[in-house]
Amino acid sequence: MDKLWPIGARMDEDEELWLGGCAASELAERFGTPLYVFDEATLRQRSQAYQAALKRRYPASAQTAYAAKAYLCLALAQLFAEEGLDIDVVSAGELHVALRGGFPAARVHFHGNNRSAGELAQALEAGVGRIAVDNFHELELLAALTASRGSDRLPIWLRLAPGVQAHTHAHIQTGQVDTKFGFTIAGGDAERALLRAMSAPGIEVVGVHAHIGSQIYQAETLATAASRLIEFAAQMRSRHGFILAELSPGGGWGVPMVEGDPAAPIESFVATLAQAVVAACRAAGLELPHLALEPGRSLVAQAAVALYRVGARKEIPGVRTYVSVDGGMADNIRPALYEAKYTARRVVNRKSQIAERKSDHERVTIAGRFCESGDILIRDIVLPRLEPGDLLAIPMAGAYTLAMASNYNLAPRPAVVLVRDGQPRLMQRRETLEDLLARDLPRGRRFHKYQALGNDYIVLDPADWPLPPSPAAIRRICDRRYGVGADGILWGPCEPAEAATPAVPQGARPFGLRLFNPDGSEFEKSGNGLRIFARYLWDRRRPPGRQFAISTAGGLVVAHVLDEDGSRISMEMGRLSFDSRAIPVAGPPREVIEERITVASRELRITAATIGNPHCVVFVDDETFEVSQDLEGLAKNLGPLLERQPLFPNRTNVQFVRPLDRHTLRMAIWERGAGYTLASGTSACAAAGTAIRTGRCASPVTVQMPGGALHVEVAGDWSVRLTGAVEPVCRGEVSEGLAGECPMPAGGRSPGSCNRSPRS
Ligand code: PLP
Repeated sequence: MDKLWPIGARMDEDEELWLGGCAASELAERFGTPLYVFDEATLRQRSQAYQAALKRRYPASAQTAYAAKAYLCLALAQLFAEEGLDIDVVSAGELHVALRGGFPAARVHFHGNNRSAGELAQALEAGVGRIAVDNFHELELLAALTASRGSDRLPIWLRLAPGVQAHTHAHIQTGQVDTKFGFTIAGGDAERALLRAMSAPGIEVVGVHAHIGSQIYQAETLATAASRLIEFAAQMRSRHGFILAELSPGGGWGVPMVEGDPAAPIESFVATLAQAVVAACRAAGLELPHLALEPGRSLVAQAAVALYRVGARKEIPGVRTYVSVDGGMADNIRPALYEAKYTARRVVNRKSQIAERKSDHERVTIAGRFCESGDILIRDIVLPRLEPGDLLAIPMAGAYTLAMASNYNLAPRPAVVLVRDGQPRLMQRRETLEDLLARDLPRGRRFHKYQALGNDYIVLDPADWPLPPSPAAIRRICDRRYGVGADGILWGPCEPAEAATPAVPQGARPFGLRLFNPDGSEFEKSGNGLRIFARYLWDRRRPPGRQFAISTAGGLVVAHVLDEDGSRISMEMGRLSFDSRAIPVAGPPREVIEERITVASRELRITAATIGNPHCVVFVDDETFEVSQDLEGLAKNLGPLLERQPLFPNRTNVQFVRPLDRHTLRMAIWERGAGYTLASGTSACAAAGTAIRTGRCASPVTVQMPGGALHVEVAGDWSVRLTGAVEPVCRGEVSEGLAGECPMPAGGRSPGSCNRSPRS
């Protein structure tokens, strides 16, 4: 392929594009589009070309620095550090990545035109090799920062504006007189700056620097600028004794962008420049300085190809045909910013169609997907007909594309891969939707409190609480004195733990939910908590219909909103199991039905079950209990002991249950992680199911608890449906103190203790 494509790129007869031995269509399939593909061989070859040309053409010491502003990521920094280049950075961010990528600070040049005292101090602290000072403000800042350095003076360059106009787009010209960059030679600023710097005790001006623009094709223009710097240095030597040890004529060497552009060989550019430097030094009687080049674009542009997927076509007869791709100005703003020209190739998606489509050429305009009319990547290009699904490959995409990429329209920035010998390696993953929210903070810490049969739960929505609150924050929020007070926290809707099942209408995505006890521990399922969460979703108009799924750590459940205002909600809770391994119960695998255990010298017969969380049911209807035995007292006294029996390795919820008739139970509950509680949905399920399993009851069963009654239906396969009322209590905002990690007020009782009493 021609000069615009990475080394070794080729297009085969099936219109497949091969980059670094990898098929473009496979890369697009695997990493998605838009995708930026960098060819490692091209990056290395271009670096070596600069270093070798300098060695051959310049008869004194010289070095190439990569201008990181063209594009930098960790892997690229590592690669160029390995190639032995220096690096030019312009911000704390580029410096950070360069250092992380393995560049010794001494090999870093720091440029910029408005650096703060803080940034300059940071650069000094890091020990960057050279700082190019752009203006008097920076010079004074640096003079102050280095005043106490003594003999260890800071080597700097002065950035000069040599008054040379580069033949390039006005937005990327920087060397003329009318520019924001550098000290102008013509007006005398450059000389004044040199004198000021020479008088600063902590500074040593070791060189001068200029960068006259970018995308320059005439090597002579760059050579002229370098000669001007040398002439200036010679004048300064005779007037002030200045010694030019280093010369940095910047970067700016151009690259061809479209087929008709001339090639821009690195070797001939370096030769012209070196020759001019040598000639100017000879003419001025100066020793040859160390020559530091700073190419950006010409090192990386050719190495990368951008791959886009073709989508919509819009044909305006007699006017223009627009073909839209899935990227555009957010990943490559250059065409919109300074009318940069690109070319492209089609990579056909369906190979079977190639034969019939091959000769079918048309003139089109390649539009991006962003909401600007100016979002055009290529205007008027003749290409084989593009169909939705085809790939479009744009070469020369490595420089000032990703480096200027934005999240305009909140588009995630593309993935970037490095290819070599048929192996792709991800250099930067595609941004995720969550990345787009990573810096955002919610408007406030809102909460919504509901209750069902006296079980009160607080819903914390990830919209307000991007992460679940810490256990300490949960304890504070649930505390009935210092906090809002609740039986637990419901954090959702979050990402579901599992996919929808056929039980869910149209396979709609379930709402994810995580449940937390007031002590901060997480638990799997709560019948009332789940019904409260369903009501919350219903109140917010989130579910598509009255039936929807909720995914919990204890499995998937299905909610049914029974009336329009959501005041009665039933929940398909999943299946009850008596299998000791599922609950879990220690000891050999078995069903734990009316097993005898001794607790506080009292013999109890327990039945264990799980419906996502463990339950231990004790029927208070045998000879060991008095007829008038108080269920509440049993729950409060024996509940905590049963909860922590070694028999239950994950601890257990505990129910004391008295059957009233074949369809009615009365129950008191001790809840794992929470303590005595007025009502519990999964406890009602466990009690009803256990009563059926032991022959005491038949479905449906009404379970009466101090907080109210729940209706439990148990099917032949032990799947359970729970029905009852749910109502809102209050909503509001918790203070940052409650939500954050602030300590409790002095002398306060530990919020971790959950010795709660029933709500009146
Ligand atoms: N050095 C300096 C100081 C620059 O400002 C720039 C680009 O703006 C460069 C080097 C690199 O230029 P290019 O990418 O055109 O080689």
